[in-house]
Amino acid sequence: DVHINIFLQSWKTYLKGQSQITELKQLTSTAKKYGLRIKGIAFSRNILWTMPIWYHKEANQKIRTMNHTTASICLRSKHGIRTVGDAESMANLAQSNDHSPVALCECDECEFIQETYACENPRDCARQAVKLLDTLPPKWDPRCELPEDYQGPPGVNSNRAENIIPFDNWITVGGTLGNIFQIFTDKTSPTTNTLSNLKPIATTGQLKVTIDGACKNEGEEDAKARAAVFISNGHPDNRVAKLPKYLD
Ligand SMILES: [Zn+2]
Ligand SMILES: [Zn+2]
Repeated sequence: DVHINIFLQSWKTYLKGQSQITELKQLTSTAKKYGLRIKGIAFSRNILWTMPIWYHKEANQKIRTMNHTTASICLRSKHGIRTVGDAESMANLAQSNDHSPVALCECDECEFIQETYACENPRDCARQAVKLLDTLPPKWDPRCELPEDYQGPPGVNSNRAENIIPFDNWITVGGTLGNIFQIFTDKTSPTTNTLSNLKPIATTGQLKVTIDGACKNEGEEDAKARAAVFISNGHPDNRVAKLPKYLD
């Protein structure tokens, strides 16, 4: 069965039907009421690999029509492909230069797959795996370069004596799939599947940046908080930010 998890996939379940289990009904309606969503700037490749490929929640909607081709059925029933990681391993077969142009290729890899999985046309299956992966936006496609590929892990504070804190620019959500969800999200603010390019740009010396935050009426009902980034007078990268109202 391709239906694994309604929060990770785009199929719908019937919430109102009598046949639905009460606990499941409560679970799904609570998630909806409190804005449970997949949210994050970037996710680790491990997380991308663990997502179900069939009905992938963040894929182009056309993935929903790709379940019933001969190759897709073979990928599921014979190769046992469930996740994006499974699909990527299969898609790698399409990259090989050893395939012969004839319909039934007899290269080592194709023969191995034919024998192991009783698959009749490994190359068709590999091409279908590529097509499935091609429906994923870059943020969800493990073949893309991801921020974790060029961002270092959170820096260690080696300059404590000088009171300098290295800027922690690590934005990748790692760990298990549970970590990709946020609850109490602002339903009116859209999520994006654009992959942020945070590659460091060539530096021209050092830049001194001052940051600070302030709160008025702290701890009170009408507390107001702001933060600012200051480089120099009139600098285009100076910023002021006000905490959004919904952070009550
Ligand atoms: Zn081959
Ligand atoms: Zn196959």
